[in-house]
Amino acid sequence: MENKKELRTWLDNFGLDHPLVIAGPCSAETEKQVLDIAHQLKDTDATVFRAGIWKPRTRPGNFEGVGALGLKWMQKAKEETGMLTTTEVANANHVDLALKHDIDILWIGARTTVSPFIVQEIADALKGTDKTVLIKNPVNPDLSLWLGAVERFYTADVKNLGVIHRGFSTYEKTRYRNNPEWQVAVDLQNRFPDLPLILDPSHIAGRRDTIFDLCQTALDLNYDGLMVETHHNPDNAWSDAAQQVTPARLVQIMEDLKIRKETDDEAEFNNELNKLRTQIDVIDHQLIEVLGKRMKVSDGIGRLKKSRNVAVLQSKRWNEILGKMILEGEQNNLSEEFVLRMFKAIHQESINHQEKILKGN
Ligand code: PEP
Ligand code: MN
Repeated sequence: MENKKELRTWLDNFGLDHPLVIAGPCSAETEKQVLDIAHQLKDTDATVFRAGIWKPRTRPGNFEGVGALGLKWMQKAKEETGMLTTTEVANANHVDLALKHDIDILWIGARTTVSPFIVQEIADALKGTDKTVLIKNPVNPDLSLWLGAVERFYTADVKNLGVIHRGFSTYEKTRYRNNPEWQVAVDLQNRFPDLPLILDPSHIAGRRDTIFDLCQTALDLNYDGLMVETHHNPDNAWSDAAQQVTPARLVQIMEDLKIRKETDDEAEFNNELNKLRTQIDVIDHQLIEVLGKRMKVSDGIGRLKKSRNVAVLQSKRWNEILGKMILEGEQNNLSEEFVLRMFKAIHQESINHQEKILKGN
């Protein structure tokens, strides 16, 4: 796939002076719910109304969507509000039904992007369409798999494309439902700057109180749009209740977000600087988290040493670590002096942690 301006024609054609906003409930539940939410979103920044019709649930037994019936409600929402509509399609039959109901934008879910067979089936079903297709990142942080899915659509002559960053699942519990791993999306953006990049803060956060910050980070990284799960009664939503916001909250979020616009040279410079600084902030945050994790492992070693009455400081092991890290540092363009100083500080903190454990009862 080449990086071509045509990839973003569909987005440019909206002529928006703010990022694209896609909003609506995780799932279509009832006709009234769909219409209520759509009407509340009608005069906001949201251009596109989203609702899941078929819901891929990780575990069976959760609400799996109302099915094709809900497409009629979306069609009605579109007629009544003039908003465009989008839903997730996960097989050729979904595509057929969505197209019959005049859905404007189709999105490929994270659990679908992982499967080249299904992605190909959907791409074949959409061959040559002028509908827009948005591809969510796969559940695992694999840039090739994500790009591969985009390429399958591009090769099937689907030229109105975009990607949605919804975070990556981890076995470990973190403060996010799905880890953002911003670097993966930023790499993709660097390779295909014209491919519209949209953030789905809802599925990254898993809770509504961190949605604003995620949106701001995305805008600072020059994302093109936001897809925010929005429900008139979030706490009683049939799926993903904790992460949905009300239409009123969405309006407030959009009002509070700092949206940077490139107007002249200086603005462009500031924009680029800001983007790089945000990348640094994201990485610094990861560094602190990783160091915290390292100290937790150190605590485990401390407890083990305590049970066997072994001394904290073991110079042989420490010298081995240092030698290895200096070599790895060299491969990563880090000077020996820097690696030495950094690891001395890390080692000291580690010793402090272990001594605290050994002294405790
Ligand atoms: C959704 O958007 O409601 C959804 C199921 O998303 P994902 O594929 O990102 O989990
Ligand atoms: Mn959802």
